[in-house]
Amino acid sequence: MTEQGAHLEFSPEELRERYERERQARLRPEGDGQYRDLADVAGDFDADPWVEPGFVRDPIVEETDVLIVGAGFGGMTTAAFLRKQGIDRFRIIDKAGDFGGTWYWNRYPGCMCDVESYCYLPLLEESGFMPKHKYSHAAEIFEYCQQTARRYDMYPAAMFQTEVTDMVWDRGAHRWQVTTTRDDRISARFVVICGGVLHKAKLPGIPGIETFQGHSFHTSRWDYRYTGGGPEEPMDQLADKVVAIVGTGATAVQAVPKLAEAAKQLYVFQRTPSAVSARDQRDTDPEWFREMASTPGWQLDRIANFVAMTTGLNPPVDMVDDGWTALFCVDPKKPAATDDEARELELLDFQLMEGIRARVDGIVDDPETADALKPWYKVSCKRPCFHDDYLPAFNRPNVKLVDTHGRGVDRITPTGVVVGETEYAVDCIIYASGFENQTFYTHRLGFDPVGIGGVSLSEAWEHGPWTLHGIHTHGFPNLAMNSFVQGGQHINFAFAITEIARHTAVTIAAAIDDGVDTIEPTMDAEEDWYQVIVRTLPAYGNYYADCTPSYLNMEGAPPPESAKRGGAYMASALEFVEILRQWREDGTFPGLVRTPLPTSET
Ligand code: NDP
Repeated sequence: MTEQGAHLEFSPEELRERYERERQARLRPEGDGQYRDLADVAGDFDADPWVEPGFVRDPIVEETDVLIVGAGFGGMTTAAFLRKQGIDRFRIIDKAGDFGGTWYWNRYPGCMCDVESYCYLPLLEESGFMPKHKYSHAAEIFEYCQQTARRYDMYPAAMFQTEVTDMVWDRGAHRWQVTTTRDDRISARFVVICGGVLHKAKLPGIPGIETFQGHSFHTSRWDYRYTGGGPEEPMDQLADKVVAIVGTGATAVQAVPKLAEAAKQLYVFQRTPSAVSARDQRDTDPEWFREMASTPGWQLDRIANFVAMTTGLNPPVDMVDDGWTALFCVDPKKPAATDDEARELELLDFQLMEGIRARVDGIVDDPETADALKPWYKVSCKRPCFHDDYLPAFNRPNVKLVDTHGRGVDRITPTGVVVGETEYAVDCIIYASGFENQTFYTHRLGFDPVGIGGVSLSEAWEHGPWTLHGIHTHGFPNLAMNSFVQGGQHINFAFAITEIARHTAVTIAAAIDDGVDTIEPTMDAEEDWYQVIVRTLPAYGNYYADCTPSYLNMEGAPPPESAKRGGAYMASALEFVEILRQWREDGTFPGLVRTPLPTSET
């Protein structure tokens, strides 16, 4: 088989057709609407399993310089950088019972970070912390979050198990007046919303989900009281249980091997298989780590190298040297300069996926199961997975893959899970059904800030977001956001989040130091920023447009104009961070109107 004179082991034409056929089988008219909020499904799906029920405290009524909403990486790094800037009067609100965000909620068995720990953990250089492994387990990351919170003395500022109900700009006082589910009233000079990226868990809208009479929960609310064990201990109460897991994304890939070891019988209900490459986990060699960490600036250098390696920038050295860098040393979704280059990138994509499919045959014994586990889509259509125990789990006699051929589970009954004509009787159903990603920003936040003139953020963004750098938005003075909406992005989420936090803290500190009352971007600057973003979108938009449905492409539905405006800066995150750095170093805060305090208040 040849294309452009090269000898190929596969037919590009057949693969194109197969990918399209598989995509069509998965498109659903409901798009994102096929999912349901945890809180909207009867039962206690949304209850926090990590806190004791019945927590009460007195309402807090106070003024603060900065209110941070969200105690995950975004909120924590914002607080850390504020402290470094000498701003100590801040508050942090979170629905959770501790710091950690993603790593507070996700403690399912096998949970770990698929990005190298030395690049992933924020502020590692100054903490001196040595991760135990190349890829940290969730428990270690959660512990690191707690340590970081202690290091920067964040606990006294924390308001946990608390949700914002209202956030209104008081144009007389020039403060944000914020109320909460615990009747707090906080008057804040600045607000920084760090609502998270994949924080709002969702359930599949499978008919009958509420009728199930066994036990069920979402992976981000793992119920160890039912399964026994813990994030680092085997689940010792499943030996006599038949367990179903619905979903086979990055979460399930990590959880399935642990469930397979513990359950009497495990059914894995698959709609679309993940692409699973080798992990090659390693212990950290203390000597190697000490030497690496003795060079000032090592972590940012390593992160920069990792981002460059995985966005096709081709640096001379591959410091991280792992599955990600092998897969994306040439990024098949990068913009192609010519038709020939576009064809080469497509072939490369096919080749990468052929390798991933061949790996399944090499590991899974039963040919029918192996066939069903092969992914038929482009390499970035779903988050690539790296795991050494997921595929072998299907060789166990107590594990059965139930492939739904893209259709999904048909029904849940009081006693089990139905696919086609077969009902699988189970004791427990675990939903590994993921998180909202491109739904409306304020829907994911769970509150709707009201800015100048009583206009809410959802009204201001009705036709799409307007921001400067994804951080500030016109009509909402002294508000900053840390998100992917018109912001930076990379598979190492922590990088852009940390750099946005650094930027935000510097901007707020400069305003406070300079006696500035309000900061607010001009709409011209927002439009200029959008034009910068738009230039980075077409190649990626085209790539995802014919991808198999997922949260990355709004489940395959053509995005409305308003959603398009919410795209991130899709070229390298290094460029995004450089844009922020140059903006800060300019010193004139271009595009941001800084209104001085009235002279009596300076
Ligand atoms: P995903 O959205 O990736 O997966 C959800 C799964 O549920 C999919 O397999 C989906 O199938 C399946 N599903 C949905 N509806 C149905 C249905 N009706 N019947 C059967 N199956 C159904 O969620 P995850 O929690 O796995 O991962 C989300 C993201 O979280 C990842 O992409 C990643 O960014 C992040 N993550 C990161 C990790 C890390 O190590 N850094 C680890 C884990 C997660 P289909 O594919 O057909 O839609």
